Formats: sequence, structure tokens, C-alpha cells
Amino acid sequence: MSWFDDDRDSKRTLGIRDKQILYRNAKDKCENPACGKKLRFEEMVSGHKKAWSKGGNTTLANSVCLCYTCNKLQHNDSWDVFLNKQGFKDKTTSLKEKLETLNISQLKSLAEKHYIKVKGTVEEDLFNTYRKAPTKKQYISKLATIVSEKDITTIAKKKTTVAAKKKPAVATKKKPAVATKKKPAVATKKKPAVATKKKTTKQ
Ligand SMILES: [Zn+2]
Repeated sequence: MSWFDDDRDSKRTLGIRDKQILYRNAKDKCENPACGKKLRFEEMVSGHKKAWSKGGNTTLANSVCLCYTCNKLQHNDSWDVFLNKQGFKDKTTSLKEKLETLNISQLKSLAEKHYIKVKGTVEEDLFNTYRKAPTKKQYISKLATIVSEKDITTIAKKKTTVAAKKKPAVATKKKPAVATKKKPAVATKKKPAVATKKKTTKQ
């Protein structure tokens, strides 16, 4: 246990190489959009998007380039909460909002495209197990960390074209085939035959 804790503690701050990458990616600026202060490398504080004290890891993906003041300001808030407090939205939040506009089948195909499996809930009673299909919420929370805005806009457009393509295809396959086989065959065999028989018997 102590070994694990020591290991985690040693990773509380980013290594110099990661700090340099973080600094460069942030374009030498404090990443708090309300601040944006130009920073010298030594001035940068690498903050955690998800607080270390709340189990956030010290990785580049979980780090944010901040000035001293903004890092103090963020305190233990997660990055998205911090941004929301200041009236900004982080990327995941705005993606979630965009995903909300899609319907369940669009979300499903988006998940398939990214090879994500979204599991529905399983409910059990004394005799049976019921599998519930994943809800929209479950899809969105999984997808929001992976998809890009472009993904969402293309899938939003695609759905209409896919739907337009599929329906006529089904219609043309089934209806004409059935119609040409059954109806004319029946019509030519029975009706004239009956008609001619009846007519002849009557007369
Ligand atoms: Zn700042």
C-alpha cells in the first residue's frame, strides 16, 4: 500500500518534458479563457483538470497550463466546473450539448464508427434477467470524450441520406417482385378461366 502511494506521489507533478509540451500546446498562455495571460515557462503551473485529490492522474491529457492565480482560483474544482463557474464551456460540455441533438440511432452509429460499446442496464427479478437498451444519456457520456464536432455534424447530415437510401431500396425490392409474380399469374389463370367457363355454361 505504501509503495503504491509513494509511486502516486512521485507523479503528482508533470515531468519536464511533458511540461514543455503542455506549455507549447497552450501557446505560452494561461489556458483559462478568462485570463489568457502570456506566461514565461517558469511561470507556468501545470494544473489538473481533475484534481489530484479527487483521483485525477498526472498526465498530459489531465493537465492544463495555468498562471499561478488561475491555478489557485481553480482550487479543487474540475476543469469543466471551473470553466462553467466563469461562464465558459469546456470542450466535453459543448460536445455533450451537440450530441443531445442527435437521435438514438445516430448516436448508435457514431458509437459503432468509433468501436465503442455502450452497455445498457441489466435488471433482474426472481425469474428473469432483463436487458435494457442503452439510453441516450449513456451513449452521450461515452461519446463526449471521444468524438469530434465534425463527427457529430457529419452523422447529423448522414442520417437523412441513409434513411432516404434505405427506404426506396426496400420498397422496390419487395413490392414489384411480389406484385409481378402473384397478381398477374393469378389474374390470368383464374379470372379468364372462370369467366369463360361460366359464360359457356350459362349459354
Ligand atoms: Zn491565468
